Amino acid sequence: MTKFSDLLEPGAEVKVLAEGLTWTEGPVWLADRQACIFSDIHTNSIRAWSEPEQALSVFAGNVDFTNGRTLDLNGDIIECSHGRRGIQRRNASTGEVTMLVDHFAGVSLNSPNDVVVASDGAIWFTDPSYGIDLPGEGHPGEREYGDRWVFRFDEKTMQIWPVVTDIIAPNGLAFSPDDSVLYVCDSSNSGGEEGPGRHVRAYDIIDGRLAKWGRMLFEIDNEVPDGIKVDAEGHIWSSAGDGVRVFEPDGTEIGRITTPMRVANLAWGGDDGHTLYMCATDKFLSIRTTTTDATWARRG
Ligand code: MG
Repeated sequence: MTKFSDLLEPGAEVKVLAEGLTWTEGPVWLADRQACIFSDIHTNSIRAWSEPEQALSVFAGNVDFTNGRTLDLNGDIIECSHGRRGIQRRNASTGEVTMLVDHFAGVSLNSPNDVVVASDGAIWFTDPSYGIDLPGEGHPGEREYGDRWVFRFDEKTMQIWPVVTDIIAPNGLAFSPDDSVLYVCDSSNSGGEEGPGRHVRAYDIIDGRLAKWGRMLFEIDNEVPDGIKVDAEGHIWSSAGDGVRVFEPDGTEIGRITTPMRVANLAWGGDDGHTLYMCATDKFLSIRTTTTDATWARRG
């Protein structure tokens, strides 16, 4: 088993980079700007933490409730829009936003919440209903296909298919380093719901398709897991009510980063990719680690 202290830089401490935010989500590192951008939900904006300037600025305003985001294989921003009920590409330079997918089988998606891009370029995203259910996270609306699923969208063919249908409220998701396992959070025990979901499930993937059997991997006892990330060695780093918890691929917990407030999402960044940024309620935090995201090597 990995020694957890080996995954953090010696003497590493949680740093408060910014506070006074409303509800932070969806961090992603933009290497060419040396900045980590993230959603501030209730101000309906995207903020940017600049490492060279050590300062926070407004990256974009009036964004129609963006939530989770990632980079595609070209390094462009792919993000979830609660307000527009779809997955969109945002040009970091011009600010231009292009809707990629907002329908399935002729009806609207609910409110895509988190997104990852597989090594073949396909976009996998969760579609819970927080953006149409919760005030201040989007616009009121109906669940038009009557459920909440995880979808795979192939931009080359424009095909969209449900891939996970056995999670009540799918939220964060991440692939193992070789894309052979998909991890998905169920957060149905939150947002006014009393569902059973405060756990992460694992799904084997064969030839880009789900093998259809999921398994319970771990549970977070003090809050629902929201965002998760997988490091280069395959450990799963999960948001929790008191920080971040780290697990072996078999679901064994190996350590915790403790914060005074709930962490909802996390992402690696910084020059060397070893800084872990944490969206923590009204704060934006970081800690230095010795590892990085499993997808870091894709970035030029
Ligand atoms: Mg989320």
